[in-house]
Amino acid sequence: MPEPKHFKNYIGGQWVESATGERYENRNPANTDDLIGTFCKSDARDVDAAVAAAAEAFKTWRLVPAPERGLMIMKASQILARRKEEVSQMMTREMGKVIAETRGDTQEAIDCGYYAAGEGRRLFGKHTPVEMPNKFGVAIRRPVGVCGMITPWNFPIAIPSWKMFPALIAGNTCVIKPATLTPASVANFMEVFEEAGFPPGVVNMVTGGGSVVGKAMVEHPGINRISFTGSVEIGNLLGSQCATAGKPFSAELGGKNGQIVMDDANLELAVEGALWGAFGTTGQRCTATSRLILHEKIHDEFMGMLLDRAKKLTVGNGLDEKNQVGPTVSEDQMKTDLYYIDVAKNEDKSKLVFGGKRLTGGDYDKGYFVEPTIFTEVTPKMRLAQEEVFGPVLAVLKVSSFEEAIEVLNDTEFGLSSSIYTENVNLAFKAIRDIEAGITYVNGPTIGAEVHLPFGGVKGTGNGHREAGWTVLDFYTEWKSVYVEYSGKLQRAQIDNK
Ligand code: NAP
Repeated sequence: MPEPKHFKNYIGGQWVESATGERYENRNPANTDDLIGTFCKSDARDVDAAVAAAAEAFKTWRLVPAPERGLMIMKASQILARRKEEVSQMMTREMGKVIAETRGDTQEAIDCGYYAAGEGRRLFGKHTPVEMPNKFGVAIRRPVGVCGMITPWNFPIAIPSWKMFPALIAGNTCVIKPATLTPASVANFMEVFEEAGFPPGVVNMVTGGGSVVGKAMVEHPGINRISFTGSVEIGNLLGSQCATAGKPFSAELGGKNGQIVMDDANLELAVEGALWGAFGTTGQRCTATSRLILHEKIHDEFMGMLLDRAKKLTVGNGLDEKNQVGPTVSEDQMKTDLYYIDVAKNEDKSKLVFGGKRLTGGDYDKGYFVEPTIFTEVTPKMRLAQEEVFGPVLAVLKVSSFEEAIEVLNDTEFGLSSSIYTENVNLAFKAIRDIEAGITYVNGPTIGAEVHLPFGGVKGTGNGHREAGWTVLDFYTEWKSVYVEYSGKLQRAQIDNK
Protein backbone atom coordinates (compact mmCIF):
# COMPACT_ATOMS: atom_id res chain seq x y z
CA MET A 1 0.00 0.00 0.00
CA PRO A 2 1.35 3.49 -0.85
CA GLU A 3 2.45 5.68 2.07
CA PRO A 4 -0.35 7.90 3.44
CA LYS A 5 0.00 11.55 2.44
CA HIS A 6 -0.39 14.67 4.55
CA PHE A 7 -2.70 16.92 2.50
CA LYS A 8 -3.16 20.65 3.12
CA ASN A 9 -5.61 23.30 2.00
CA TYR A 10 -4.77 25.18 -1.18
CA ILE A 11 -5.26 28.91 -0.66
CA GLY A 12 -3.78 31.83 -2.59
CA GLY A 13 -1.42 29.52 -4.48
CA GLN A 14 0.03 28.00 -1.27
CA TRP A 15 -0.47 24.65 0.46
CA VAL A 16 -1.38 25.64 3.99
CA GLU A 17 -2.50 24.04 7.24
CA SER A 18 -5.97 24.94 8.51
CA ALA A 19 -6.50 27.46 11.27
CA THR A 20 -7.79 24.67 13.51
CA GLY A 21 -4.67 22.51 13.14
CA GLU A 22 -7.02 19.51 13.26
CA ARG A 23 -7.02 16.69 10.71
CA TYR A 24 -9.16 13.76 9.62
CA GLU A 25 -8.38 10.44 7.95
CA ASN A 26 -9.44 9.30 4.49
CA ARG A 27 -9.56 5.50 4.13
CA ASN A 28 -10.24 3.10 1.27
CA PRO A 29 -13.81 1.72 1.48
CA ALA A 30 -12.63 -1.52 -0.15
CA ASN A 31 -9.94 -2.01 2.49
CA THR A 32 -10.04 0.18 5.55
CA ASP A 33 -6.42 -0.75 6.40
CA ASP A 34 -5.47 1.43 3.44
CA LEU A 35 -5.06 5.01 4.69
CA ILE A 36 -4.90 7.38 1.72
CA GLY A 37 -3.96 10.35 3.85
CA THR A 38 -5.03 12.92 6.36
CA PHE A 39 -6.79 16.18 5.51
CA CYS A 40 -7.40 19.54 7.17
CA LYS A 41 -10.50 19.82 9.29
CA SER A 42 -10.93 23.47 8.43
CA ASP A 43 -13.35 26.07 9.71
CA ALA A 44 -14.76 29.50 8.83
CA ARG A 45 -11.34 31.18 9.23
CA ASP A 46 -9.94 29.09 6.38
CA VAL A 47 -12.96 29.97 4.25
CA ASP A 48 -12.28 33.65 5.01
CA ALA A 49 -8.69 33.29 3.86
CA ALA A 50 -9.70 31.45 0.68
CA VAL A 51 -12.38 34.02 -0.18
CA ALA A 52 -9.93 36.90 0.39
CA ALA A 53 -7.41 35.23 -1.94
CA ALA A 54 -10.09 34.57 -4.56
CA ALA A 55 -11.41 38.15 -4.35
CA GLU A 56 -7.92 39.56 -4.81
CA ALA A 57 -7.22 37.24 -7.75
CA PHE A 58 -10.53 38.16 -9.39
CA LYS A 59 -9.31 41.74 -9.88
CA THR A 60 -6.81 40.60 -12.50
CA TRP A 61 -8.16 37.23 -13.65
CA ARG A 62 -11.35 38.82 -15.02
CA LEU A 63 -9.18 41.03 -17.25
CA VAL A 64 -7.18 38.16 -18.78
CA PRO A 65 -8.62 37.72 -22.29
CA ALA A 66 -10.93 34.72 -22.37
CA PRO A 67 -8.98 32.91 -25.14
CA GLU A 68 -5.89 33.16 -22.92
CA ARG A 69 -7.82 31.78 -19.96
CA GLY A 70 -8.85 29.03 -22.35
CA LEU A 71 -5.23 28.20 -23.12
CA MET A 72 -4.51 27.82 -19.40
CA ILE A 73 -7.52 25.55 -18.98
CA MET A 74 -6.34 23.56 -22.00
CA LYS A 75 -2.95 23.18 -20.34
CA ALA A 76 -4.60 21.99 -17.11
CA SER A 77 -6.52 19.35 -19.10
CA GLN A 78 -3.33 18.20 -20.79
CA ILE A 79 -1.60 17.84 -17.41
CA LEU A 80 -4.57 15.90 -16.10
CA ALA A 81 -4.38 13.65 -19.16
CA ARG A 82 -0.70 12.99 -18.43
CA ARG A 83 -1.52 12.20 -14.77
CA LYS A 84 -4.71 10.30 -15.58
CA GLU A 85 -3.66 6.88 -14.31
CA GLU A 86 -2.20 8.09 -11.03
CA VAL A 87 -5.21 10.36 -10.32
CA SER A 88 -7.63 7.53 -11.17
CA GLN A 89 -5.83 5.02 -8.94
CA MET A 90 -6.07 7.38 -5.99
CA MET A 91 -9.72 8.03 -6.79
CA THR A 92 -10.51 4.32 -6.71
CA ARG A 93 -8.71 4.08 -3.38
CA GLU A 94 -10.70 6.89 -1.81
CA MET A 95 -14.10 6.36 -3.40
CA GLY A 96 -14.16 2.66 -4.25
CA LYS A 97 -15.52 2.59 -7.79
CA VAL A 98 -13.66 0.32 -10.17
CA ILE A 99 -10.58 1.61 -11.92
CA ALA A 100 -12.17 1.58 -15.39
CA GLU A 101 -14.78 3.97 -14.04
CA THR A 102 -12.39 6.29 -12.21
CA ARG A 103 -10.43 6.53 -15.47
CA GLY A 104 -13.74 7.62 -17.00
CA ASP A 105 -14.30 10.15 -14.21
CA THR A 106 -10.86 11.67 -14.84
CA GLN A 107 -11.46 11.61 -18.60
CA GLU A 108 -14.67 13.52 -18.11
CA ALA A 109 -12.75 16.25 -16.28
CA ILE A 110 -10.19 16.34 -19.10
CA ASP A 111 -12.94 16.65 -21.70
CA CYS A 112 -14.73 19.27 -19.67
CA GLY A 113 -11.53 21.33 -19.70
CA TYR A 114 -11.13 20.97 -23.45
CA TYR A 115 -14.71 22.05 -23.96
CA ALA A 116 -14.41 25.04 -21.60
CA ALA A 117 -11.14 26.05 -23.27
CA GLY A 118 -12.95 26.26 -26.60
CA GLU A 119 -15.62 28.43 -25.01
CA GLY A 120 -12.88 31.00 -24.42
CA ARG A 121 -13.19 31.86 -28.10
CA ARG A 122 -16.98 31.88 -28.01
CA LEU A 123 -18.63 33.24 -24.83
CA PHE A 124 -21.03 34.81 -27.27
CA GLY A 125 -22.93 37.94 -26.48
CA LYS A 126 -25.79 39.11 -28.66
CA HIS A 127 -26.07 42.07 -30.95
CA THR A 128 -29.47 43.37 -31.93
CA PRO A 129 -30.70 46.40 -33.91
CA VAL A 130 -32.01 49.23 -31.75
CA GLU A 131 -34.89 51.65 -32.31
CA MET A 132 -32.90 54.82 -32.83
CA PRO A 133 -30.65 55.74 -35.73
CA ASN A 134 -26.92 55.93 -35.06
CA LYS A 135 -27.13 53.89 -31.89
CA PHE A 136 -25.70 50.46 -31.16
CA GLY A 137 -27.06 47.78 -28.82
CA VAL A 138 -25.38 44.62 -27.57
CA ALA A 139 -25.66 42.24 -24.61
CA ILE A 140 -22.45 40.88 -23.14
CA ARG A 141 -21.61 38.33 -20.45
CA ARG A 142 -19.74 39.49 -17.37
CA PRO A 143 -18.12 37.30 -14.73
CA VAL A 144 -19.78 37.32 -11.34
CA GLY A 145 -16.77 37.21 -9.01
CA VAL A 146 -15.94 34.59 -6.39
CA CYS A 147 -17.89 31.36 -6.87
CA GLY A 148 -18.26 28.64 -4.25
CA MET A 149 -18.45 24.95 -5.17
CA ILE A 150 -19.71 22.27 -2.77
CA THR A 151 -19.35 18.82 -4.27
CA PRO A 152 -20.33 15.20 -3.53
CA TRP A 153 -18.20 12.06 -3.40
CA ASN A 154 -19.56 10.02 -6.30
CA PHE A 155 -17.73 11.83 -9.12
CA PRO A 156 -14.75 13.10 -7.18
CA ILE A 157 -13.06 15.00 -10.01
CA ALA A 158 -15.64 15.14 -12.82
CA ILE A 159 -18.18 17.15 -10.81
CA PRO A 160 -15.59 19.65 -9.51
CA SER A 161 -14.44 20.08 -13.12
CA TRP A 162 -18.00 20.67 -14.36
CA LYS A 163 -18.23 23.53 -11.92
CA MET A 164 -14.73 25.01 -11.94
CA PHE A 165 -13.75 25.00 -15.62
CA PRO A 166 -16.84 26.93 -16.78
CA ALA A 167 -16.57 29.34 -13.85
CA LEU A 168 -12.93 30.00 -14.72
CA ILE A 169 -13.39 30.45 -18.45
CA ALA A 170 -16.06 33.03 -17.69
CA GLY A 171 -13.51 35.02 -15.65
CA ASN A 172 -14.51 34.04 -12.12
CA THR A 173 -12.37 32.73 -9.28
CA CYS A 174 -13.24 29.66 -7.20
CA VAL A 175 -13.35 28.29 -3.68
CA ILE A 176 -14.16 24.58 -3.56
CA LYS A 177 -15.07 22.36 -0.65
CA PRO A 178 -14.83 18.71 -1.68
CA ALA A 179 -16.88 15.96 -0.05
CA THR A 180 -15.25 14.77 3.17
CA LEU A 181 -15.04 11.25 1.72
CA THR A 182 -13.16 12.21 -1.48
CA PRO A 183 -10.87 15.19 -0.96
CA ALA A 184 -7.73 13.61 -2.48
CA SER A 185 -9.12 13.84 -6.01
CA VAL A 186 -9.74 17.57 -5.60
CA ALA A 187 -6.26 18.01 -4.07
CA ASN A 188 -4.90 16.37 -7.23
CA PHE A 189 -7.01 18.78 -9.28
CA MET A 190 -5.43 21.73 -7.40
CA GLU A 191 -1.97 20.36 -8.19
CA VAL A 192 -2.94 20.34 -11.84
CA PHE A 193 -3.98 24.01 -11.70
CA GLU A 194 -0.76 24.82 -9.87
CA GLU A 195 1.39 23.09 -12.48
CA ALA A 196 -0.55 24.76 -15.29
CA GLY A 197 0.48 28.13 -13.83
CA PHE A 198 -2.87 29.51 -12.70
CA PRO A 199 -2.24 32.77 -10.80
CA PRO A 200 -2.43 32.50 -6.97
CA GLY A 201 -5.97 32.73 -5.63
CA VAL A 202 -7.77 31.89 -8.87
CA VAL A 203 -8.55 28.42 -7.50
CA ASN A 204 -8.70 27.56 -3.80
CA MET A 205 -9.60 24.41 -1.89
CA VAL A 206 -10.73 24.18 1.72
CA THR A 207 -11.35 20.69 3.11
CA GLY A 208 -13.54 19.85 6.08
CA GLY A 209 -17.09 19.08 7.12
CA GLY A 210 -20.09 20.37 5.24
CA SER A 211 -21.80 21.74 8.31
CA VAL A 212 -18.72 23.85 9.10
CA VAL A 213 -16.85 24.69 5.87
CA GLY A 214 -19.84 24.39 3.53
CA LYS A 215 -22.00 26.43 5.88
CA ALA A 216 -19.34 29.14 6.15
CA MET A 217 -19.18 29.32 2.34
CA VAL A 218 -22.92 29.66 1.96
CA GLU A 219 -23.00 32.42 4.57
CA HIS A 220 -19.91 34.25 3.36
CA PRO A 221 -20.81 37.66 1.87
CA GLY A 222 -17.72 37.51 -0.36
CA ILE A 223 -19.00 34.45 -2.26
CA ASN A 224 -21.41 35.51 -4.99
CA ARG A 225 -22.64 32.14 -6.26
CA ILE A 226 -22.94 28.67 -4.76
CA SER A 227 -22.94 25.67 -7.04
CA PHE A 228 -23.99 22.54 -5.16
CA THR A 229 -24.34 18.89 -6.08
CA GLY A 230 -25.55 16.48 -3.44
CA SER A 231 -28.56 15.23 -1.54
CA VAL A 232 -32.03 16.72 -1.57
CA GLU A 233 -31.92 17.29 2.16
CA ILE A 234 -28.76 19.43 2.10
CA GLY A 235 -29.64 21.01 -1.24
CA ASN A 236 -32.96 22.29 0.05
CA LEU A 237 -31.35 23.59 3.22
CA LEU A 238 -28.67 25.49 1.30
CA GLY A 239 -31.25 26.72 -1.19
CA SER A 240 -33.21 28.46 1.53
CA GLN A 241 -30.04 29.87 3.12
CA CYS A 242 -28.89 31.24 -0.25
CA ALA A 243 -32.34 32.70 -0.90
CA THR A 244 -32.17 34.56 2.41
CA ALA A 245 -28.71 35.84 1.53
CA GLY A 246 -29.87 36.78 -1.98
CA LYS A 247 -27.22 34.51 -3.45
CA PRO A 248 -27.86 32.63 -6.72
CA PHE A 249 -27.72 28.90 -6.07
CA SER A 250 -27.43 26.03 -8.50
CA ALA A 251 -28.64 22.66 -7.21
CA GLU A 252 -28.11 19.22 -8.71
CA LEU A 253 -29.83 16.81 -6.36
CA GLY A 254 -31.15 13.26 -6.23
CA GLY A 255 -32.70 10.95 -8.75
CA LYS A 256 -34.94 7.90 -9.02
CA ASN A 257 -34.26 7.17 -12.63
CA GLY A 258 -36.30 4.68 -14.61
CA GLN A 259 -35.58 2.52 -17.63
CA ILE A 260 -38.62 1.44 -19.64
CA VAL A 261 -38.38 -1.74 -21.71
CA MET A 262 -41.22 -2.11 -24.23
CA ASP A 263 -42.41 -5.44 -25.66
CA ASP A 264 -40.74 -4.74 -29.01
CA ALA A 265 -37.33 -3.87 -27.53
CA ASN A 266 -34.02 -5.49 -28.35
CA LEU A 267 -33.83 -7.44 -25.10
CA GLU A 268 -30.09 -8.22 -25.22
CA LEU A 269 -29.37 -4.52 -25.51
CA ALA A 270 -31.86 -3.59 -22.81
CA VAL A 271 -30.44 -6.17 -20.38
CA GLU A 272 -26.94 -4.86 -20.93
CA GLY A 273 -28.18 -1.30 -20.36
CA ALA A 274 -30.04 -2.22 -17.18
CA LEU A 275 -27.03 -4.00 -15.69
CA TRP A 276 -24.70 -1.11 -16.42
CA GLY A 277 -27.22 1.53 -15.35
CA ALA A 278 -28.13 -0.19 -12.09
CA PHE A 279 -24.84 -1.63 -10.90
CA GLY A 280 -22.18 0.55 -12.54
CA THR A 281 -20.53 2.71 -9.84
CA THR A 282 -22.23 0.35 -7.37
CA GLY A 283 -25.47 2.20 -8.14
CA GLN A 284 -24.00 5.39 -6.72
CA ARG A 285 -24.62 7.67 -9.68
CA CYS A 286 -27.24 10.37 -9.52
CA THR A 287 -28.32 9.01 -12.91
CA ALA A 288 -28.22 5.32 -11.87
CA THR A 289 -31.10 3.13 -13.01
CA SER A 290 -32.98 2.41 -9.82
CA ARG A 291 -36.31 1.48 -11.41
CA LEU A 292 -36.76 -0.93 -14.27
CA ILE A 293 -40.19 -0.66 -15.86
CA LEU A 294 -40.92 -3.78 -17.90
CA HIS A 295 -43.77 -4.43 -20.29
CA GLU A 296 -45.64 -7.48 -19.00
CA LYS A 297 -45.23 -9.35 -22.30
CA ILE A 298 -41.43 -9.50 -21.96
CA HIS A 299 -41.18 -9.35 -18.15
CA ASP A 300 -40.39 -12.99 -17.44
CA GLU A 301 -38.06 -13.50 -20.38
CA PHE A 302 -36.22 -10.28 -19.57
CA MET A 303 -35.85 -11.17 -15.89
CA GLY A 304 -34.43 -14.58 -16.80
CA MET A 305 -31.81 -12.94 -18.99
CA LEU A 306 -31.05 -10.21 -16.41
CA LEU A 307 -30.57 -12.68 -13.56
CA ASP A 308 -28.23 -14.81 -15.70
CA ARG A 309 -26.08 -11.77 -16.34
CA ALA A 310 -26.27 -10.41 -12.77
CA LYS A 311 -24.93 -13.71 -11.42
CA LYS A 312 -21.76 -13.19 -13.41
CA LEU A 313 -20.97 -9.73 -11.99
CA THR A 314 -17.70 -9.70 -10.07
CA VAL A 315 -17.71 -7.60 -6.92
CA GLY A 316 -14.50 -6.60 -5.17
CA ASN A 317 -11.70 -4.10 -4.76
CA GLY A 318 -11.91 -1.63 -7.64
CA LEU A 319 -8.14 -1.63 -8.16
CA ASP A 320 -8.39 -5.21 -9.45
CA GLU A 321 -9.18 -4.84 -13.16
CA LYS A 322 -11.34 -7.98 -13.20
CA ASN A 323 -13.89 -6.54 -10.77
CA GLN A 324 -16.97 -4.87 -12.23
CA VAL A 325 -18.60 -3.60 -9.04
CA GLY A 326 -16.73 -1.93 -6.18
CA PRO A 327 -17.68 -1.34 -2.56
CA THR A 328 -20.15 1.25 -1.35
CA VAL A 329 -18.40 4.49 -0.49
CA SER A 330 -18.67 4.24 3.31
CA GLU A 331 -20.07 2.33 6.22
CA ASP A 332 -22.96 4.82 6.41
CA GLN A 333 -23.86 4.33 2.74
CA MET A 334 -23.67 0.55 3.18
CA LYS A 335 -26.05 0.78 6.13
CA THR A 336 -28.45 2.91 4.05
CA ASP A 337 -28.42 0.28 1.28
CA LEU A 338 -29.06 -2.54 3.75
CA TYR A 339 -31.81 -0.50 5.41
CA TYR A 340 -33.64 -0.06 2.09
CA ILE A 341 -33.20 -3.74 1.31
CA ASP A 342 -34.83 -4.50 4.62
CA VAL A 343 -37.65 -2.04 3.97
CA ALA A 344 -38.32 -3.61 0.58
CA LYS A 345 -38.26 -7.13 2.00
CA ASN A 346 -41.02 -6.15 4.38
CA GLU A 347 -42.96 -3.99 1.98
CA ASP A 348 -46.19 -5.13 0.47
CA LYS A 349 -45.56 -7.97 -1.98
CA SER A 350 -42.18 -7.11 -3.49
CA LYS A 351 -39.94 -10.12 -4.02
CA LEU A 352 -36.18 -10.27 -3.48
CA VAL A 353 -34.90 -12.26 -6.47
CA PHE A 354 -31.19 -11.51 -6.31
CA GLY A 355 -28.57 -10.45 -3.75
CA GLY A 356 -29.79 -8.61 -0.68
CA LYS A 357 -26.88 -9.02 1.71
CA ARG A 358 -23.61 -7.50 2.79
CA LEU A 359 -20.72 -9.48 1.30
CA THR A 360 -18.50 -10.97 3.98
CA GLY A 361 -15.55 -13.32 4.34
CA GLY A 362 -11.95 -12.89 3.23
CA ASP A 363 -11.08 -9.47 1.85
CA TYR A 364 -14.73 -8.43 1.92
CA ASP A 365 -14.50 -8.07 5.69
CA LYS A 366 -12.13 -5.14 5.29
CA GLY A 367 -14.57 -3.12 3.21
CA TYR A 368 -18.20 -2.13 2.72
CA PHE A 369 -19.49 -4.47 0.03
CA VAL A 370 -23.17 -5.01 -0.75
CA GLU A 371 -24.41 -7.61 -3.24
CA PRO A 372 -26.03 -6.26 -6.39
CA THR A 373 -29.68 -6.63 -5.44
CA ILE A 374 -32.91 -6.96 -7.44
CA PHE A 375 -36.51 -6.82 -6.27
CA THR A 376 -39.41 -7.69 -8.57
CA GLU A 377 -43.15 -7.06 -8.18
CA VAL A 378 -42.48 -3.59 -6.86
CA THR A 379 -45.45 -1.25 -7.14
CA PRO A 380 -45.18 2.48 -7.86
CA LYS A 381 -46.00 3.80 -4.39
CA MET A 382 -43.61 1.55 -2.46
CA ARG A 383 -40.70 3.30 -0.77
CA LEU A 384 -38.27 1.37 -2.95
CA ALA A 385 -39.95 2.88 -5.99
CA GLN A 386 -40.03 6.40 -4.58
CA GLU A 387 -36.93 7.05 -2.46
CA GLU A 388 -33.36 7.33 -3.64
CA VAL A 389 -31.20 4.50 -2.25
CA PHE A 390 -27.93 5.48 -3.95
CA GLY A 391 -26.71 1.89 -3.94
CA PRO A 392 -26.82 -1.30 -6.02
CA VAL A 393 -30.52 -1.96 -5.47
CA LEU A 394 -32.84 -2.27 -8.46
CA ALA A 395 -36.64 -2.15 -8.25
CA VAL A 396 -38.53 -3.90 -11.07
CA LEU A 397 -42.07 -2.79 -11.90
CA LYS A 398 -44.43 -4.44 -14.38
CA VAL A 399 -46.72 -2.45 -16.71
CA SER A 400 -49.19 -3.38 -19.39
CA SER A 401 -48.92 -0.47 -21.85
CA PHE A 402 -46.74 2.38 -23.05
CA GLU A 403 -49.03 4.91 -21.36
CA GLU A 404 -48.78 3.10 -18.05
CA ALA A 405 -44.99 2.90 -18.40
CA ILE A 406 -44.73 6.68 -18.81
CA GLU A 407 -47.11 7.28 -15.92
CA VAL A 408 -45.09 5.00 -13.63
CA LEU A 409 -41.81 6.53 -14.75
CA ASN A 410 -43.08 10.04 -14.02
CA ASP A 411 -44.56 9.05 -10.66
CA THR A 412 -41.69 10.30 -8.53
CA GLU A 413 -40.61 13.58 -6.96
CA PHE A 414 -37.40 13.45 -9.04
CA GLY A 415 -36.68 14.04 -12.72
CA LEU A 416 -33.03 13.59 -13.61
CA SER A 417 -32.43 10.80 -16.12
CA SER A 418 -34.62 8.31 -17.95
CA SER A 419 -34.49 5.74 -20.69
CA ILE A 420 -36.71 3.80 -23.05
CA TYR A 421 -35.86 0.71 -25.06
CA THR A 422 -38.12 0.30 -28.06
CA GLU A 423 -37.77 -0.31 -31.79
CA ASN A 424 -40.89 1.77 -32.43
CA VAL A 425 -39.87 5.25 -33.52
CA ASN A 426 -43.29 6.69 -32.71
CA LEU A 427 -43.12 5.49 -29.11
CA ALA A 428 -39.56 6.76 -28.80
CA PHE A 429 -40.64 10.27 -29.79
CA LYS A 430 -43.70 10.17 -27.54
CA ALA A 431 -41.40 9.20 -24.67
CA ILE A 432 -39.02 12.07 -25.44
CA ARG A 433 -42.03 14.38 -25.35
CA ASP A 434 -43.78 13.00 -22.27
CA ILE A 435 -41.10 11.88 -19.82
CA GLU A 436 -40.57 14.44 -17.06
CA ALA A 437 -36.79 14.44 -16.81
CA GLY A 438 -33.78 16.53 -17.74
CA ILE A 439 -32.25 13.66 -19.72
CA THR A 440 -33.86 10.92 -21.84
CA TYR A 441 -31.94 8.15 -23.57
CA VAL A 442 -33.48 6.08 -26.35
CA ASN A 443 -32.07 2.55 -26.53
CA GLY A 444 -29.35 3.43 -24.06
CA PRO A 445 -29.10 3.20 -20.24
CA THR A 446 -29.87 6.11 -17.91
CA ILE A 447 -26.16 6.84 -17.46
CA GLY A 448 -23.67 8.24 -19.95
CA ALA A 449 -23.97 12.03 -20.13
CA GLU A 450 -21.50 13.99 -22.25
CA VAL A 451 -19.88 17.24 -21.16
CA HIS A 452 -21.10 19.40 -24.02
CA LEU A 453 -24.83 18.82 -23.52
CA PRO A 454 -26.79 20.41 -20.67
CA PHE A 455 -26.97 18.25 -17.55
CA GLY A 456 -29.56 18.51 -14.82
CA GLY A 457 -33.01 17.54 -13.74
CA VAL A 458 -36.57 18.75 -13.32
CA LYS A 459 -38.92 18.58 -10.33
CA GLY A 460 -37.14 17.74 -7.04
CA THR A 461 -33.82 17.05 -8.76
CA GLY A 462 -32.85 20.64 -9.24
CA ASN A 463 -33.78 24.29 -9.28
CA GLY A 464 -33.80 25.00 -12.99
CA HIS A 465 -30.10 25.47 -13.63
CA ARG A 466 -28.06 23.25 -15.91
CA GLU A 467 -24.45 22.17 -15.63
CA ALA A 468 -22.22 21.27 -18.57
CA GLY A 469 -22.83 22.40 -22.14
CA TRP A 470 -23.16 26.08 -22.99
CA THR A 471 -26.04 26.46 -20.54
CA VAL A 472 -23.80 26.37 -17.46
CA LEU A 473 -22.42 29.77 -18.50
CA ASP A 474 -25.74 31.34 -17.59
CA PHE A 475 -24.97 30.53 -13.95
CA TYR A 476 -21.42 31.83 -14.00
CA THR A 477 -22.07 35.08 -15.86
CA GLU A 478 -24.43 37.97 -15.63
CA TRP A 479 -25.79 39.71 -18.72
CA LYS A 480 -25.08 43.38 -19.28
CA SER A 481 -26.94 45.35 -21.97
CA VAL A 482 -24.83 48.05 -23.58
CA TYR A 483 -26.12 51.01 -25.61
CA VAL A 484 -23.67 53.16 -27.55
CA GLU A 485 -24.83 56.49 -29.02
CA TYR A 486 -22.98 57.71 -32.06
CA SER A 487 -25.57 60.28 -33.18
CA GLY A 488 -23.91 63.09 -31.24
CA LYS A 489 -27.22 64.14 -29.70
CA LEU A 490 -29.66 63.14 -27.00
CA GLN A 491 -32.06 60.58 -28.44
CA ARG A 492 -34.85 59.76 -26.05
CA ALA A 493 -35.88 56.13 -25.81
CA GLN A 494 -39.24 55.19 -27.29
CA ILE A 495 -41.13 55.39 -23.99
CA ASP A 496 -40.23 59.07 -23.74
CA ASN A 497 -40.93 59.81 -27.37
CA LYS A 498 -44.45 58.68 -28.06
P1 NAP B 1 -24.52 15.38 0.58
O1 NAP B 1 -24.45 14.64 1.86
O2 NAP B 1 -25.66 16.29 0.36
O3 NAP B 1 -23.14 16.21 0.49
C1 NAP B 1 -22.82 17.00 -0.63
C2 NAP B 1 -21.85 18.08 -0.20
O4 NAP B 1 -22.50 18.97 0.71
C3 NAP B 1 -20.64 17.54 0.55
O5 NAP B 1 -19.49 18.27 0.21
C4 NAP B 1 -21.03 17.78 1.99
O6 NAP B 1 -19.94 17.85 2.87
C5 NAP B 1 -21.73 19.12 1.87
N1 NAP B 1 -22.59 19.45 3.01
C6 NAP B 1 -23.17 18.61 3.89
N2 NAP B 1 -23.86 19.32 4.83
C7 NAP B 1 -23.71 20.63 4.52
C8 NAP B 1 -24.18 21.84 5.13
N3 NAP B 1 -24.95 21.85 6.21
N4 NAP B 1 -23.81 23.00 4.56
C9 NAP B 1 -23.04 23.03 3.44
N5 NAP B 1 -22.55 21.90 2.86
C10 NAP B 1 -22.90 20.72 3.38
O7 NAP B 1 -24.47 14.40 -0.67
P2 NAP B 1 -23.45 13.19 -0.93
O8 NAP B 1 -23.82 12.10 0.00
O9 NAP B 1 -22.05 13.68 -0.95
O10 NAP B 1 -23.81 12.79 -2.43
C11 NAP B 1 -24.85 11.95 -2.75
C12 NAP B 1 -26.05 12.70 -3.25
O11 NAP B 1 -25.66 13.54 -4.33
C13 NAP B 1 -27.12 11.82 -3.83
O12 NAP B 1 -28.38 12.24 -3.40
C14 NAP B 1 -27.00 12.02 -5.33
O13 NAP B 1 -28.18 11.79 -6.05
C15 NAP B 1 -26.57 13.43 -5.41
N6 NAP B 1 -25.90 13.70 -6.67
C16 NAP B 1 -26.58 14.42 -7.62
C17 NAP B 1 -26.01 14.68 -8.87
C18 NAP B 1 -26.74 15.48 -9.88
O14 NAP B 1 -26.10 16.00 -10.78
N7 NAP B 1 -28.06 15.61 -9.82
C19 NAP B 1 -24.73 14.21 -9.13
C20 NAP B 1 -24.07 13.47 -8.16
C21 NAP B 1 -24.66 13.23 -6.93
P3 NAP B 1 -19.46 16.53 3.66
O15 NAP B 1 -18.95 15.60 2.64
O16 NAP B 1 -18.42 17.06 4.55
O17 NAP B 1 -20.66 16.00 4.39
